Amino acid sequence: MKRLLLVGGGHAHAALLLDLAASKLTGVTVMLVTPDTHQTYSGMLPGLIAGHYSRDDIQIDVASLAQRSGVELVVDRAVALDAARRCVTLGSGREIGYDLASLNLGSLPNNCGVPGAKECAIAVKPFEEFLAAWERLRAKAANRSLQIAVVGAGAAGVELALAMRFALASSGTPPGVVLFSDKPFALPDHPPAAQRSIARLLSMERVELRVDTRIAGVEPGFVTGASGRREAFDAVVWVAGAAPQPWFRNSGLGLDKDGFILVDATLRSVTNPEVFAAGDSATLDATPHPKSGVYAIRQATVLAHNIRSSLSGGRSERFVPQKDALALISIGRKYCLATRGQWTLEGEWLWRVKDSIDRRWIRRFH
Ligand SMILES: Cc1cc2nc3c(=O)[nH]c(=O)nc-3n(C[C@H](O)[C@H](O)[C@H](O)COP(=O)(O)OP(=O)(O)OC[C@H]3O[C@@H](n4cnc5c(N)ncnc54)[C@H](O)[C@@H]3O)c2cc1C
Repeated sequence: MKRLLLVGGGHAHAALLLDLAASKLTGVTVMLVTPDTHQTYSGMLPGLIAGHYSRDDIQIDVASLAQRSGVELVVDRAVALDAARRCVTLGSGREIGYDLASLNLGSLPNNCGVPGAKECAIAVKPFEEFLAAWERLRAKAANRSLQIAVVGAGAAGVELALAMRFALASSGTPPGVVLFSDKPFALPDHPPAAQRSIARLLSMERVELRVDTRIAGVEPGFVTGASGRREAFDAVVWVAGAAPQPWFRNSGLGLDKDGFILVDATLRSVTNPEVFAAGDSATLDATPHPKSGVYAIRQATVLAHNIRSSLSGGRSERFVPQKDALALISIGRKYCLATRGQWTLEGEWLWRVKDSIDRRWIRRFH
C-alpha cells in the first residue's frame, strides 16, 4: 500500500476529497491531517460577520467528507515536515510517514514584525479564534459604541471593516471603525478605479480610511503609528497580509523569498517531487500570483489529476493562473464592488452574483 498524506483541509483538499469520494484510489491509504473538522469558507466570512449568513451556511464538514472519501481523518496540526525522512510531525508528537504528501494549509496572518501585533491584536486567522473574538466584541457593543481599528486595507481588511461596521450599526450601537493602510489608498493590488470606488464606498458606509499610516506598535487598548501618534481602540483587528507556516523553513523543501513552498506548474515542490503544495501555502515558481482563494479553488482539479497520475504513472497537467482574477468585494450591506484587470463595477446585483457563486461552491460539499 502506498501512503498519501494530505496536510490541511483548504479549498484544494476539500475538492480533492470530493474527487476521491467519486472515485476511490486503490492500493493507497489516504490520511488527512487538519486541526478543524469544519472548514470555514473565507469568501463568505465577511457575510457571516455582517449577519447575512449562519455558520452552517459558510462551513464545509471536512470530517464527513473524509469519511465519504475513505480517507482517515487525524484531527491535529502539523508542526514539522522532514523532506529527507518523508515524514510529518504533529502537535501531539506523532510522526506520520508518507510516499506522497500534499500541503494545502493556507497562510498565517502576517504580523509584519510589529511589536505587540501578535499578542494584542485580533488576528483574522485561525477563523475559529477570530469568530470567538468577534462574539466577545459583539457582546461588549451591546452596551456602548466601540472604537475598532482594522490594520491592513487589502480586500479582506476592507470587507471585514465594512462588515463589522454594518453589523454593529444594524444592532443599534454604530461603532467608530478606522481602517489603516500603509499605502496612499486601500486595495493596493487593484486598479486605481477600484481604489477610488472603495474610498467613496468606505466614506459612505462611515468607515474612516486612514492612508499612508503604518502601524508600528500595538498595546492593549492602543495602536501607535510610525509617526508616534498613539490612539485608543477597544479592539485592533489585524489583516495585514499572508505569512507562511514557520516550520516550512526547516522542512528541507525549496521555498520562495518569503518562506512559502516553491512549486512548479504541476504543483510539485521544485526540490521534492513527492510533495505537492497548493493554495496560499505554495508559490508558483514561474508565474507567482496573489495569495487568494480563487487560485486555491482553481488549482484543485490539477492537484487531484496530478496526485492520481503520480500514483498510477500517468501524465501530469499544468496549472496556468489567470492573468486577472475577478474579485468581488462586499461592503457590509448587500452590495458589492467587482474588479477585474482595469475595470470595476458595483451594485446590489453584484452582491447577488457573489452570493450565488459562493453558495454554489459550498453546496458542492453538502
Ligand atoms: C476575511 C477574508 C476574506 C477573504 N475573501 C476572499 C475572497 O472573497 N476571495 C478570495 O479569493 N480570497 C479571499 N480571501 C483569501 C483566502 O482566504 C485565502 O487565500 C484562501 O483561504 C487560501 O486557501 P487555502 O486553500 O490555501 O487555505 P485555507 O482555506 O486557509 O485552508 C487552510 C486549512 O489548513 C488548516 N491548517 C492550518 N494550519 C495547519 C497545520 N499546521 N496543520 C494542518 N492543517 C492546518 C486550516 O485549519 C484550514 O482548514 C479572504 C481572506 C480573508 C481573511
